[in-house]
Amino acid sequence: MAKQYPNYDYVPCMACGICVQACPFSCLELRRTGLDTYRKAYPDLARREDCTGCGICASSCPVDAIRMGE
Ligand code: SF4
Ligand code: SF4
Repeated sequence: MAKQYPNYDYVPCMACGICVQACPFSCLELRRTGLDTYRKAYPDLARREDCTGCGICASSCPVDAIRMGE
C-alpha cells in the first residue's frame, strides 16, 4: 500500500497547533495559507519527505480535521 500522508480539512480546523506539536518527526508547520490571513496559521505538511505516515498527527487532532490518504 502506498504511504499515506495527512490531509487537512480546514473548515473544522481551529489552527490550535496540537498536530504540529504531536508529530515526532517535526514534519508540520503552522503557515498562513491565505484562507484566513487575518487570524490563523493553519497546519501544513512542510517536510513531506520526513513524514513516515504514522498517523499520530491525525490521532492528536481534537476535532478530527486530519484524514490520512495518498
Ligand atoms: S503522519 Fe506522522 S510523521 Fe507524518 S506528519 Fe503526521 S505525525 Fe508526522
Ligand atoms: S490539531 Fe486539528 S484543529 Fe488543531 S491545528 Fe491540527 S488539524 Fe487543526
